Amino acid sequence: MQRYTTYEELMHMVRESPRGYDVEKIEKAYRLAEKAHEGQNRRSGEPYITHPVSVAALLVDLGLDTESLCAALLHDVVEDTEVSLGELRAQFGEDVTNLVDGVTKLTKITFSSVEEQQAENLRKMLLAMSQDIRVMLIKLCDRLHNMRTMDAQPEQKRRDKALETMEVYAPIAHRLGISSIKEELEDRSLRYLDPVGYEEINRLLAQNGSAKVFIENIAEKVKERLAEHGMETAWISSRVKSVYGIYRKMYIQNKSFEEIYDVYAVRIILNSVAECYNALGVIHDMYHPLPNRFKDYISTSKPNGYQSLHTTVLGREGVPFEVQIRTWEMHHTAEYGVAAHWKYKAGISGSDKLEERLAWVRQLLESQRENDDSEDLLRNLKSELLPEEVFVFTPKGEVVNLPAGATAIDFAYAIHSAVGNRMIGAKVNGRIVPIDHKVQTGEVIEVITGPANKGPSRDWLKIVTTSEARSKIRSWFKKERKEENILEGRVSLERELRRNQINLTEEEYDAFMEEMTRRQHLNTVEELYAAIGYGGVQLSRLMLKIKDEYTKLLKNREAEQELPPPVPLKPVAASTADGVIVEGLDNCLVKFAKCCSPLPGDEIVGFVTRGFGVSIHKKDCANARSGMVREPERWLRAHWADGVKQNFTASLEIRALDRPALFADVSAAIAGMRVPILSISARQTPDGRATMSLTIGVANTEHLDNVVAKLCKVKDVVSVDRARDR
Ligand code: MN
Repeated sequence: MQRYTTYEELMHMVRESPRGYDVEKIEKAYRLAEKAHEGQNRRSGEPYITHPVSVAALLVDLGLDTESLCAALLHDVVEDTEVSLGELRAQFGEDVTNLVDGVTKLTKITFSSVEEQQAENLRKMLLAMSQDIRVMLIKLCDRLHNMRTMDAQPEQKRRDKALETMEVYAPIAHRLGISSIKEELEDRSLRYLDPVGYEEINRLLAQNGSAKVFIENIAEKVKERLAEHGMETAWISSRVKSVYGIYRKMYIQNKSFEEIYDVYAVRIILNSVAECYNALGVIHDMYHPLPNRFKDYISTSKPNGYQSLHTTVLGREGVPFEVQIRTWEMHHTAEYGVAAHWKYKAGISGSDKLEERLAWVRQLLESQRENDDSEDLLRNLKSELLPEEVFVFTPKGEVVNLPAGATAIDFAYAIHSAVGNRMIGAKVNGRIVPIDHKVQTGEVIEVITGPANKGPSRDWLKIVTTSEARSKIRSWFKKERKEENILEGRVSLERELRRNQINLTEEEYDAFMEEMTRRQHLNTVEELYAAIGYGGVQLSRLMLKIKDEYTKLLKNREAEQELPPPVPLKPVAASTADGVIVEGLDNCLVKFAKCCSPLPGDEIVGFVTRGFGVSIHKKDCANARSGMVREPERWLRAHWADGVKQNFTASLEIRALDRPALFADVSAAIAGMRVPILSISARQTPDGRATMSLTIGVANTEHLDNVVAKLCKVKDVVSVDRARDR
């Protein structure tokens, strides 16, 4: 094969092409490239300019536009010569410049080693980096010409490039449906990767004379015979399986050359299913079919929708070949997939599957090559092949695949949870960025780590976008911060309760929490708090359930209120000794009625309950007054013993988020209720919270409840508890 295309040959192709190229612009690009590369030679000895010219010629074959050809001619000038992108922009405009820039960026990426699992990421990344699919097409032609001239390179470089081509570029060409480029890339790579195997297969192919001539003759005969049977419109193509295709079957599927029946193949495309079966009859009449090689994928299509008739027959001198028969519609489905076929009719729309997008590109490429007057659809197809994925590098050059919108923190956790947990900063392309930086395809990201016990921040949960990072952060908190989680969970739960104006008595609160704990399949309320704290239980979901329960509770409360008033009494450790004297009774059990909450100083009366001692009401309490009319015999006179003035004391523990003036606000709230403070102390905890212990004087528990309720309303107070162990 000729090693390169001359400029004259290229311009001949350009002028002959019906695509109507802008000859002047292409000539101008050539002149700039030739001047820029002047004096440079390729390793093979030819002037460097022969390379870009050859790449441009390959693009004419693909049916690409003027801009792509210009960019192909100029594709190495920015990297290898003095010419700048600015100059290109001034002379050739934005379009050509972006293409050259895109190819340059792809060229800069070299792969030290291509591991199996990295290969797919690399392919996707290159596609994503291309942005404009023309960039990838230029790059593929660049690689193809380099592979054609690889003999001049040293052994190690040949193998490296061959491996990279085999693993990365040939599969991309395959996905883009450019089988001619794909097969040549594979065959040329194989020549360097396994020279012995490559030569062996070529020798086997040569046994049947010229393989190409052999199968073309058959195709010619088939065409004539089909025409005789009324199928003049049959479209027939033939192919010889590529060397690498045969190699795969021989060395990977472990078959002998003779066992490969599709080394030679003829494809017949017809207008109707009826014609397909007719054609099959004609073929079986012409050639002897091999047993068990006939497959009817028309009546029973493959799971992926593929339809065709396959048969293998024996040709002249006993050489078998495969025949595939299908309609045009089946052909399109086979080439572009079911989705693409549908999309072709429906028009492209939002889709998220790479394969579907690539199928669309394949179809465009096909029409680009076949229809001389087709619009330059490819130009408008800013590929954005993978809008929902980004590909970034570790400093070692490994590719990491993340969903679009992922941050540097997501990246760190994708590397390893230990890296994420120790992260204190990030660098992108060597420059410090905020850790919530949204990563872009092609960036090299370095995670800066701190001490091992550092740990993530809870705020990160709001920043990260991958579930992997989120669950790793949560599991760190779950493991490392049990105490903190319990407090955090309790604080946020109580904050939510207040925000939703859910007012529960202590008993109701405990019952609620036990119920929620049970529903979350946890053992203790502490576990529930902890789970809320590290995010294992979503507070918003839990709140929905709590609100449900609360609505039920409110209904019950209403229902209770409709009953005749069984005056609720709250037992208090009060007796005559504690300050109330009930006339006519010694040492009886005394309770203060909830309806009027008498305080020392109030005029009071006593009501003899059935079995619960005496209940003390204010004398002017409505219940007392009506009760005295109904059952005067049960009412007794009562009065406060001397010296009973707020001689109850209570110790409280207040937990709050610390802030300036918190202490002052709490003191002011207590003072506002005219409650004496007997002692007060406060301390900060290292996590930014404050705990206050105070002892106050109150008239009774009712009074105490009022004080607690007031304190709860002070801003940032989290909880107020009665200290029990005093
Ligand atoms: Mn090049």
